Amino acid sequence: MEQSEAPIDLSPFYDGERQTPTGEKLELINPATGMVEREFFAASNLDVEMAVSSARRAFDVGPWQNMPPMARRQLLFAFAETIESESERLARADSTDMGKPISAARQEIAVASGFIRYYAEAIDKFYPGQTAPTPVDVVETQTYRPRGVVAAITPWNFPIVNAALKLGPALAAGNTIVLKPSEIAPSSTMHLATLAHEAGIPAGVVNIVPGAAQTGEAMVADRRVDMLTFTGSTATGQAIMRTSGEHGLKPMLLECGGKCPEIVCADMGNADLGGIAASIARSAFDNQGQVCVARSRLLVHESLLDQVLEPLVSAAKTFVPGPPHEEDTVAGPMASRAQYEKVLTAIEAGIEAGAKLIMDGRAIACPDEGFYLGPSVFTEVPDGCGLVQDEIFGPVLAVQTFRTPEEAITLANATSYGLAATIWTRDSHMAHHMSRSVRSGRTRVIGSPVNTMGALFAHCFEPCGQSGFGIDGGLRGMASYMRLQSTEYIFGSP
Ligand code: ADP
Repeated sequence: MEQSEAPIDLSPFYDGERQTPTGEKLELINPATGMVEREFFAASNLDVEMAVSSARRAFDVGPWQNMPPMARRQLLFAFAETIESESERLARADSTDMGKPISAARQEIAVASGFIRYYAEAIDKFYPGQTAPTPVDVVETQTYRPRGVVAAITPWNFPIVNAALKLGPALAAGNTIVLKPSEIAPSSTMHLATLAHEAGIPAGVVNIVPGAAQTGEAMVADRRVDMLTFTGSTATGQAIMRTSGEHGLKPMLLECGGKCPEIVCADMGNADLGGIAASIARSAFDNQGQVCVARSRLLVHESLLDQVLEPLVSAAKTFVPGPPHEEDTVAGPMASRAQYEKVLTAIEAGIEAGAKLIMDGRAIACPDEGFYLGPSVFTEVPDGCGLVQDEIFGPVLAVQTFRTPEEAITLANATSYGLAATIWTRDSHMAHHMSRSVRSGRTRVIGSPVNTMGALFAHCFEPCGQSGFGIDGGLRGMASYMRLQSTEYIFGSP
């Protein structure tokens, strides 16, 4: 099918239609050129108020939560279809907005529609309620109800996947939503409003507003919002908790930063270390390291360091960035000048702290022609240095060695985060001990280098520490968008 080449409408969408924005003017910078691609207007506090009113009405009096489950299911399937019918346009939008290679962007559109389908299918299959033991003349049911109006705030690193991860479970659970994408990469998400509307989802159920921190704050502060869900940095997660706390009580899901370790245990000496190194490079440098679960710290047993480092540097070289719209590009520019500068600062601080830079991604830096940076690898990284403590969110890998498993665990846990970890071992005792001891929400124990998506749609986990809280993904993630209500039916004696 022909897909439109017209620019995506970035105006707020609520009450089932595009609205004229009244907020400040923002610029969309193309990170591949460093130039302004286009301008758009943020949703003002008034726009947010109207969007929340729209979602409120659609929840309180609208048909969504009381619709027969099969009908809601069909509408979400239709939504997945409209997304797929515009996949090329959506992929190009993400690629232009944040520099994602077009091949990766295409895959992500399929993942996003897959999430919507997964949760559509769950609507009439997932019912975690129970009936309590009671005296004979009482029946107590414990049912899961939608929470109401969900305010969702997403980041720029996987724009459409992050939006679908909020929309899918929130809508399937019967909530209505006000969603704000990142100001750095808003286009694909803004277009989802049109696609939801075309699919027949009733007015007010899906509301999407553009904007930056101020727009997000207005959403968080609105007392009529029943739940917050956020993916982004730890600092913004903290700000959201502060703002939210000043305006009543709202449950929230926060998926924030990470500084995730990849541990290669001594028993992997006989394994395919070249394959392992390629996998380590992928986990560190994919999406230019702009991934909260990026494995940005390599902890390798000292006996294997040299055998791992050489193929690792070779594998890293395949992540040299190129123009995002070209078919065979595997890595694009950094998503923004701010992110680009943050990485440069982190590299300089690492050198100053005494770490050894064995691969320097700045060699290809050229900010006037886009925010391009190659992968960087540091060895001999001192404990406690920023390279192993702070989330850089860029293609920078810090390598440390260990002698004993306990030392590896201490190094792995020496950050404030608790998001994800990988442990390479074939020793089942070691696997069990490490996976219990390394603080992480999603842990991968792996004995051979294979490229797998794992449980993908069914994958669920809860971060810990400064990485956030609340279960995201899978059916348990859908339950996060519901509240448990108990009802006692008291009949008395006949
Ligand atoms: P990054 O620093 O990587 O850009 P952020 O955590 O700042 O990531 O942004 C993630 C999302 O949070 C974006 O949609 C952004 O506009 C939004 N945001 C930023 N600051 C605030 C805030 N104070 N309140 C609500 N949302 C915010």
